[in-house]
Amino acid sequence: MTAASLVWFRTDLRLADNPALSAAVAAGGPVACLYVLDDGLRRPPGGAMRWWLHHSLATLAGALAERGGALWLARGDPAVIVPRFAQALGAGRVFWNRRYGAQERALDAQIKADLRSRSLEVESFNATLLREPWAVQTQGGTPFKVFTPFWRSAQALGPFAAPLPAPGRIAAPTLPSGLNVTGLDALALLPTRPNWAVGLWASWTPGEAGAAEALGDFLVGPLAGYASNRDRPDRTGTSRLSPHLAFGEIGPRQIVRALLLATDTGASAAQPADVSRFLAELGWREFSYHLLFHNPDLPRKNHQPKFDAFPWRSDPAALVAWQRGRTGYPIVDAGMRQLWQTGWMHNRVRMVVASFLIKHLLLDWRLGEAWFHDTLVDADPANNAASWQWVAGSGADAAPYYRIFNPMTQGETFDPDGTYVRTYVPELARLPAAHIHAPWQAPAMVLATAGVRLGIDYPQPLVDHAAARARALAAFKSLSA
Ligand code: FAD
Repeated sequence: MTAASLVWFRTDLRLADNPALSAAVAAGGPVACLYVLDDGLRRPPGGAMRWWLHHSLATLAGALAERGGALWLARGDPAVIVPRFAQALGAGRVFWNRRYGAQERALDAQIKADLRSRSLEVESFNATLLREPWAVQTQGGTPFKVFTPFWRSAQALGPFAAPLPAPGRIAAPTLPSGLNVTGLDALALLPTRPNWAVGLWASWTPGEAGAAEALGDFLVGPLAGYASNRDRPDRTGTSRLSPHLAFGEIGPRQIVRALLLATDTGASAAQPADVSRFLAELGWREFSYHLLFHNPDLPRKNHQPKFDAFPWRSDPAALVAWQRGRTGYPIVDAGMRQLWQTGWMHNRVRMVVASFLIKHLLLDWRLGEAWFHDTLVDADPANNAASWQWVAGSGADAAPYYRIFNPMTQGETFDPDGTYVRTYVPELARLPAAHIHAPWQAPAMVLATAGVRLGIDYPQPLVDHAAARARALAAFKSLSA
């Protein structure tokens, strides 16, 4: 009889296009599926991600059970648990899909060496990216630092690989005696008091089926018009696939395949500009992973060392006002409250709130990155760090330092009727569109009619835009001098 295979699930919580799972099924013996909640991670998942993880694991377990499989859950150090399970099972092979963070890579390499020393076969696969980070190189064989040539090269390497189908039957082995598995509830991933996850439930369906549904809805809907609508937080103009991608409930190969099918068959009325723009956003994700792989300290250290001398301020009260959505700038506050209520924020608004923290408040980008890590359902080690460094100007291919988003004009341009602000800042809901992005400039009569008492119902601006802009320009110039 063929020995059992062990599949160690991590950020690939799906059955379709899961090369590690497919390889284990193809090997022919029983397939044990394991997920380990790793308490030793330098950066454990934040609260919103833990909520998602609970539900994603529940749906994965259900999908495996439908095919005859089982998901075993454990908690602790994978360097101990994975070899222990492999040994107790008498497994011949261990399979997993690769991760790209520095600590994760080191751990995986250690476990691989340990298992091989016990004469087990170990194989890892790519389930996360269109191209492995090391596969895209400049002509000189070095990593890319600029997005456009990176993405051109990534595409020029040939067609992206086709996704794999989900396996049919998955034969689960019997749990060997002496091995302890944990129940999902015992992982204690859900918030208890207060249960802030109500808004998350209203916004999302975690799991592989939820991911497929989100993709399907996007392809027949917002993809047509994506190039122009993607910047509008007041519209459903984007795919909202990011948390599904972060947990690996869907992979980019599946997205690309479905996208091409939808446009070829006419199921989507998207124009070529919509398709190439959407693909380029997946390209930014690839680029972030390329940067993270080649710069393992990206989430912690300025990519450009000259930023180590940046004169960041310390202002805990301003940080709390930003986190709570009480800066007095409606587009910033709407974004921060969308994040708190739904675990997600529109990309345009992410750029505005990040610019506000870094440039208007002169607070270190790492404070913002950490808050996003704790509150986003799509917190991603590569995208989050690369994007924060991009806004700060400290990253590769970063925004120029003098690009300081004006929160009023950003609001007026991308939320012209104030619909987005009204949704998340209800105390301003009755203000006319002409004043909703700068309530402190509204005549007293307009404020009174809308029932807004500035400083009481809604804060006065935390900083004056013009003064903050001048202060930021001076600070950034001091750096380049
Ligand atoms: P769509 O527009 O439908 O794009 C499809 C996919 O492409 C996304 O799901 C995402 O995987 C990728 N993508 C889109 N825009 C970007 C981008 N600018 N950079 C990298 N990949 C992109 N994205 C995360 O997934 N996790 C994060 O932790 C994260 N933190 C961010 C922090 C800041 C300060 C900023 C400015 C951006 C951040 N982003 C992050 C990128 C982007 O905001 C989100 O990926 C996007 O809003 C997700 O929504 P969507 O799935 O509807 O995107």
